[in-house]
Amino acid sequence: MRKKIVAGNWKMNLNFEDGQKLTSEIVNMLKDENDKDVTVVLNPPFVHLYPVKKLIGNTPNLFLGAQNCSDKGSGAFTGEVSASMLASFGADYVILGHSERREYFGESNELLTTKTRQALENGLTPIFCCGEPLEIREAGTHEAYVKNQLTESLFGFSDEEISKIVIAYEPIWAIGTGKTASSDQAQDMHAALRAHFASKYGQIIADNLSILYGGSCNPGNAKDIFSKADVDGGLIGGASLKSRDFVDIIKSF
Ligand code: 13P
Repeated sequence: MRKKIVAGNWKMNLNFEDGQKLTSEIVNMLKDENDKDVTVVLNPPFVHLYPVKKLIGNTPNLFLGAQNCSDKGSGAFTGEVSASMLASFGADYVILGHSERREYFGESNELLTTKTRQALENGLTPIFCCGEPLEIREAGTHEAYVKNQLTESLFGFSDEEISKIVIAYEPIWAIGTGKTASSDQAQDMHAALRAHFASKYGQIIADNLSILYGGSCNPGNAKDIFSKADVDGGLIGGASLKSRDFVDIIKSF
């Protein structure tokens, strides 16, 4: 059985105290309210990671993730943070290839292969993002576009490696816009991506991959989206900054 996962991507939001407050609220709520064994991941900015880890403590099913890591192992790379540093204080996950990183920081499919390798070699679970811009959706070539992102970045990995990766499909036109993909649009893409992995890695591996949806997910639409057969959870931006909304999304399975 593949995992159900809800991950909160705080992006570049919240100062120290607000991050502590949000985490404490989520930890307290989840003690009573995560009764469906959903894997929950908090992905704050780097400076929050260690204090958030301490607040998470041993809360069941609650994990820590970063929003990025370097493609390099160590050395003279000012401003970078390595996968091994993240792992060294107990981070479990790392978001890679978010469309904002691709667009604003020029991250290519090729670079993302290297980052994914760094993450896997250091025992982190990549949450690997993919998704098409609006013009590609309107041209009707979105499936080919997203499959190509995955082929170019991930299809060199072994069966064992690919089995450790979580995929997040985030249509760029739905991110932060309030315009979510319909649950049918999400399902169609997720099924296509699962079939794409099956064509390379076989049906068993594909069936065990968790594929998350991201893009204007909120407590009002999560239930519908998560009810779809190939949607295994969500990568949540704006709504992950409000404890009640985030936990309500987690409870939408
Ligand atoms: P929003 O939920 O704010 O649309 O952001 C989605 C996202 O980019 C999560 O990584």
